[in-house]
Amino acid sequence: MNSKKIFVTKTFLPPLKKYQRYLEKIWKTNKLTNQGPILKKFEEKLRNYLKVKYLHFLTNGTLALQIALRALNINEGEIITTPFTYVATVSSILWERCTPVFVDINPETLCIDADKIEKAITKKTKAILPVHVFGIPCDVKKIAEIAKNYHLKIIYDAAHAFGVEYKEKNIFNFGDISMGSFHATKIFHTIEGGCLTTNNKEISDKIELIKRFGHNQNNHYMLGINAKASEFQAAMGLCNLEYIEKLIEKRKKLYEMYNQLLGDSFQKPKIPKSTKYNFSYYPIIFKNENQLLKAVKILNKNNIYPRRYFYPSLNTLPYLKNSQKCSVSEDISKRILCLPFYEGIWKKDLIKIVKVLMKQI
Ligand SMILES: *Cc1c(COP(=O)(O)O)cnc(C)c1O
Repeated sequence: MNSKKIFVTKTFLPPLKKYQRYLEKIWKTNKLTNQGPILKKFEEKLRNYLKVKYLHFLTNGTLALQIALRALNINEGEIITTPFTYVATVSSILWERCTPVFVDINPETLCIDADKIEKAITKKTKAILPVHVFGIPCDVKKIAEIAKNYHLKIIYDAAHAFGVEYKEKNIFNFGDISMGSFHATKIFHTIEGGCLTTNNKEISDKIELIKRFGHNQNNHYMLGINAKASEFQAAMGLCNLEYIEKLIEKRKKLYEMYNQLLGDSFQKPKIPKSTKYNFSYYPIIFKNENQLLKAVKILNKNNIYPRRYFYPSLNTLPYLKNSQKCSVSEDISKRILCLPFYEGIWKKDLIKIVKVLMKQI
């Protein structure tokens, strides 16, 4: 048996020489952090790539979400969100002492079901925090309409959606604020890192203050925190940004190969029309949880480690005081599995994964 373990993802690393050149710069300037020249350059390149007016490169996506809430003056009340996401979406709401209100997901796109949002709105609702899960665009039009009618803010968790465009617009342009995560497991990474984007100057100015302790020189304006990213992270970002389009192209080919080999053996989430997709994950949906568990067992035996993204459905988190029932999300969470998928995966490994899987169903 092949002893090499295949995990759900493998971080892309740029050629070491490229990164070293930035290290040499850092050693020369002795500037390691606090909005240094490498970070400034990275922010500018990123802003151009995402086609947004304002962008802040921050330490991670979770803290970025928390700062987004603060920048919109939200420190209490209810935030409408999705139960089908990584726990950080919900924990950042709780950490800011707000209450997550879960709205079930659309069974096709697995994003928040926009048709069910209105019913969840109360007097306490402050914002909607949807997730473009697996990089699949939410129903941004409908969500914008609802937010406008009820005077709610929108923060998009775009942690999976780097490189995605929807209706010829970069996905980071929707809502009041969008959050990106550049963690090493994401499609584009800066080791650890994240960003907030907005097209609103007032919001951007506020983020600018909050991310560095709430002051500018000796003038203290508001309560802040430290969410500054370093020159080392920015350097990794600059290196990786050069490769992102090529990596997405490679992913597209592998994605199509999975599609072809698996045929219609599994249900898969649906990518809406007018999406330039980023092929960030390869989720498949089993008929039932039993079948999934059996498949995981046999894959593990073959040194293949897929992940149950996203399980459990977050409305069932044990530390929530109250929660909503979300039957679609609860059902799909039990049946969905992300197969190993990254630009460097070997074709022969991909074929092996499919072979092992197909024997099980
Ligand atoms: C990764 C992730 C986050 C958190 O980002 P970090 O940079 O790891 O803090 C938030 N939301 C979703 C959907 C994620 O996948």
